[in-house]
Amino acid sequence: MSEQNPFAIAQHQLDEAAEIMGLDRATHELLRWPRRELHVSLPVRMDDGGVEVFKGYRVQYNNALGPTKGGIRFHPEETINTVRALAAWMTWKTAVVGLPLGGGKGGVVCNPTELSETELERLSRAYMREIAGFIGEDVDVPAPDVATSPRVMSWMLDEYETMVGRHAPGVITGKPLPLGGSAGRGTATGLGVVVTIREALKRLEVDSEGTTASIQGFGNVAQSAADNYIDMLGGTVLCVSCWDSNDRKAYTYEKDDGIDPGFLASVTDAYGTIDKDAAMEAGYKVLDGDAWLAMDVDVLIPAAIENVITRETAPRISPQVKILAEGANGPTTPEADDLLHENGVYVIPDFVCNAGGVTVSYFEQAQNAYNYYWELDEVHRRMDTKMTAAFDAVHETTQRHGVKNRMGAYIVAVARVAEACKLRGWV
Ligand code: NAD
Repeated sequence: MSEQNPFAIAQHQLDEAAEIMGLDRATHELLRWPRRELHVSLPVRMDDGGVEVFKGYRVQYNNALGPTKGGIRFHPEETINTVRALAAWMTWKTAVVGLPLGGGKGGVVCNPTELSETELERLSRAYMREIAGFIGEDVDVPAPDVATSPRVMSWMLDEYETMVGRHAPGVITGKPLPLGGSAGRGTATGLGVVVTIREALKRLEVDSEGTTASIQGFGNVAQSAADNYIDMLGGTVLCVSCWDSNDRKAYTYEKDDGIDPGFLASVTDAYGTIDKDAAMEAGYKVLDGDAWLAMDVDVLIPAAIENVITRETAPRISPQVKILAEGANGPTTPEADDLLHENGVYVIPDFVCNAGGVTVSYFEQAQNAYNYYWELDEVHRRMDTKMTAAFDAVHETTQRHGVKNRMGAYIVAVARVAEACKLRGWV
């Protein structure tokens, strides 16, 4: 298995869980592969009059529990295997939170930082035109992910509604509020990450006040995780790291008495790149991109990309670290996962830790269906209840089977999906 192929990693994780659970051969085989996938080529007129052709994908991994659900990524290194892995993890994510949804994912191979606003709009609309016949409110519902914002969701929604000739807000989530978005969707993933950290600290009998955290990333998930780590837990965030698209490398921004997420957000662009000069002027130390990983903190929160905690990097993690909260999808390779388990680090697996976003996306679908919208505190209360229940189920299963947390999470999720497959008579 390649450490770099996220889908091989996702299949390996499932294989491990299938063995522990004694999953039958047919169900195991069915759950190892996407049920449907669409590959598209998108000709887009650029501002200079020329045409660029972009590749895109939409993967519907498993829909036994309900319509598939999952974000769309715009990324220069997007591959079909990344999208398949993310679609598999979405399947386990919706199942572990107990949502009546399956798992899917989409992606376009592009570098959005090099596109003008009008090129980005044409690309977003072109992608929606190609996938429109493959998705739908009760078929497959996309949402934002890396480098796709509520703005991108608005263009895609408008393109879809123009094609079908009616309003269909439930076809895509993560929309701005005036177009049928849910209160709290933008910050939901980061808030959910902190809810799971709160529960893990309780299990470890550690008072959250006075704890420290280090975060990789400073985009949608990381900014909200930083805010909530400070506001909800009373902890300190010592540093964040992010990619610098000008220098084409990552940096870590550190302050000994803790970062101010509000200030850093005010000097960060739409793609999560912090203005280095503005941060230095405000007294931040600018360190290597991977310095965040080696900080003496209680909690590490990778909230950027896949494959960052590997056999090579895991030994650099400080012995002080008690919790690894996977805000990102797939940040830890299986070898590193074993190492962390042996070292007694409490790993909150990605598809539990970052499930707050899809949970509020599901609430958004429910509100769209009723055309009636909830207040922010109701969204937060319901999300907290679902995330805490998911955390409890995983913790209890992990203890009962004496396995790694990730396997506990897989056992809960796979059992729910497998039961739905059986009830449908598929296996
Ligand atoms: P984003 O595009 O808003 O932010 C990504 C951040 O990662 C940026 O700050 C970028 O500079 C940083 N980054 C990229 N490469 C880096 C590197 N090599 N080193 C350090 N930083 C780097 O994306 P996001 O929506 O915050 O998503 C982050 C992760 O969380 C992804 O794995 C995504 O799949 C996952 N996730 C997102 C959501 C959501 O609701 N947005 C939900 C669940 C999971």
